[in-house]
Amino acid sequence: MGRRRLRIAGTVQGVGFRPYLHRLAGSLSLTGAVGNDDDGVWCEIQGRAADLDSFETRLVAEAPPLARIDSVRSAAVAAIEGEQGFAIAVSESGSGTVAGTVPPDVAACEACLADVADPAGRRYRYAFTCCTDCGPRFTVVRSLPYDRERTSMAAFELCEACEAEYRDPADRRHHAQAVCCGACGPALSLETMAGGAIDGDPIEAAADLLRAGRIVAIKGVGGYQLACRADDGAAVARLRQRKHREEKPFALLVASVEAARALVDLDDLACRALSGPAAPIVLAPRTESVPIATEVAPDTRLLGVMLPATPLHALLIEAMGLPLVCTSGNRSDEPIVTDDARVQPDLGDIADAVLVHNRRIERRADDSVGHVVHGGFQLLRRARGYAPGTVRLDRGGPPVLAVGAELKSTVCLALGADAHMSVHLGDLEHPAALAAFENAVADLLELTRTAPELVVHDLHPEYLSTKFAASVDLAPRLGVQHHHAHLASCLVDTGFGGPAIGVMFDGMGWGADGTLWGGEILVGDAGGYERVAHLRPVPMPGGSAAVRQPWRMALAHLHETFGPELPDLTCATDHIEDARQVLDQCREGQSMLTTSMGRLFDSVAALCGLVETATYEGQAAVRLEHAAGPVSRRYPVETSGDGPALIETSPLIAAVVEDLQARVGAGRVSGGFHRWVADATLAAARHARDSTGLSSVALSGGVFQNRLLVELVVPDLEQSGFEVLRHRQIPPNDGGISLGQAAVGRAMLAGRR
Ligand code: ZN
Ligand code: ZN
Ligand code: FE
Repeated sequence: MGRRRLRIAGTVQGVGFRPYLHRLAGSLSLTGAVGNDDDGVWCEIQGRAADLDSFETRLVAEAPPLARIDSVRSAAVAAIEGEQGFAIAVSESGSGTVAGTVPPDVAACEACLADVADPAGRRYRYAFTCCTDCGPRFTVVRSLPYDRERTSMAAFELCEACEAEYRDPADRRHHAQAVCCGACGPALSLETMAGGAIDGDPIEAAADLLRAGRIVAIKGVGGYQLACRADDGAAVARLRQRKHREEKPFALLVASVEAARALVDLDDLACRALSGPAAPIVLAPRTESVPIATEVAPDTRLLGVMLPATPLHALLIEAMGLPLVCTSGNRSDEPIVTDDARVQPDLGDIADAVLVHNRRIERRADDSVGHVVHGGFQLLRRARGYAPGTVRLDRGGPPVLAVGAELKSTVCLALGADAHMSVHLGDLEHPAALAAFENAVADLLELTRTAPELVVHDLHPEYLSTKFAASVDLAPRLGVQHHHAHLASCLVDTGFGGPAIGVMFDGMGWGADGTLWGGEILVGDAGGYERVAHLRPVPMPGGSAAVRQPWRMALAHLHETFGPELPDLTCATDHIEDARQVLDQCREGQSMLTTSMGRLFDSVAALCGLVETATYEGQAAVRLEHAAGPVSRRYPVETSGDGPALIETSPLIAAVVEDLQARVGAGRVSGGFHRWVADATLAAARHARDSTGLSSVALSGGVFQNRLLVELVVPDLEQSGFEVLRHRQIPPNDGGISLGQAAVGRAMLAGRR
């Protein structure tokens, strides 16, 4: 008879781990106890040595689907005479650093959806049904360890029937912290925007309003959403106008994988992501003649679809029998509303009614977004269902806080061998997003009770995250070059140990030389980098105006290629009034210089006449990608100079202009341009391989959200003998910057010690 004490670290709280160990111990006739504490899960087991061994082996092999075990430590302890049974202990909450992580929210499981559909069951049509395998986590947690008393479920006292399930080790709801039913849990109601109750079953009444073309706000998992019929162009247009969101695509809520398949082409990987526990929005090409209003996604052939993340959404979409537009509950790009008190002021003139409940949303989490490209699922926005799940670092080290970039902000705390990533926080230029960012930093440090030894920020002096880092007196600071952070983020994300060639293409980031970078070939790792090639710098006339008005960049590129005598092209002649000023700025060197690949996409889109003024970030590139047709000729790739090599854009622009003047359509020009970017990437990677001997290529930066480009670049590189490293757990855009910054910070501290 022996006894062992086990410590299990990883994502082991809030994933049904204690009941799982209880069942496992029971099946092996072991006695003992299990509990959560600040470090994860502890467990004591007592019995025959062979059974104890078997417990330790099966513990890892048969762990619940949502658990991630990072380590198990086992030590022999003195046996306890006459112990009976296996107990689940009440949590211990001590001081010190919390290494346990808050689990992400989990979409309703099949068994719970079956309960909700069962007229004989006591949870029939109950919108908050959940179990140990599913339900809210991160968005209801106030503090750790994860136990009901420290969640927003604490306000709801368990009824006798729920209490019995909670206590019964054989029950699916054993120790499910958010367990509840219609008798004891949160309740749903449908209200007017003025707060008056609307009679009838809230779900049926909401569905009636939606069917009639009205806009309904829904209190979702991590924030409010806005919904309307997806087949009603007038309703969608009304939502756009009231929300001040002109053309950025809306996502759709559909009832099932089959319903999704009727709208978009989904391969197995996409289906798995769609119906997985995170229930993200999955972007996929729309099928022919879908019954969806063109106003839903006017710029692209892609549609974003998602399945119900909660029984509430499942009941609503079932009552509708139609796909719904389901988008973030906010005005324009502000953070989504989570606080009931903000519904009236923020959504009062957008929605016609609101489907609410009385459980507090403790933490904001937008719907996550991803897509399958070249055989891999890639996140574009990491929030509900994924965050704050940790990303594994290659080793432990001192705590490092990284505050990210400016757009698609996230923050990251490297703690031990885990990088704790915040949810997507939005664009910091919105005051409310900045407040959310500051909260996220405080929250991350408070939840983990950590004092960082280093705060890492971007080099851009005007980023609000940079200013924040300078204004708070948390720890010594380190500024990290934007594309170095992109490279490091991709290496951490893919678990790649050594240095690699980094192809970092994005809108822009502050360069080490004070120009704006964005078409960069770097070589290095978290410890350092060398810039081996980049696009030839061009002026960016008008600074941020050039981002909103892509014709400005087109004029800059035309000037670079042809000098002051602009060729006869619509995008030049339409702006002939402004052109002089823009060209003067180019000539006199008054503009910032940029090597941005994103701005080159903008220029070509403007030359093709695809965009006048961009109404959201990346719009010109989205339109250019979706205009792309067959390639009729390859545009010339030329490089010059060495250390760092310049990738010339003038030969490309000259060829594009020649085609456009010969009335070659935008489709062929766009196709040819994407081909050129892939050709230039391969040429630059070869050049880097020749000089360094490295043959692994990391792809990062917002430009790699472009599906067509990835489909061209990856096979090209692989056929030329390169190993391609692509993001898996975090987005390639600036949402991943904080992770890379943390890795660079860690490397810097390690080098100093
Ligand atoms: Zn469930
Ligand atoms: Zn109950
Ligand atoms: Fe970037």
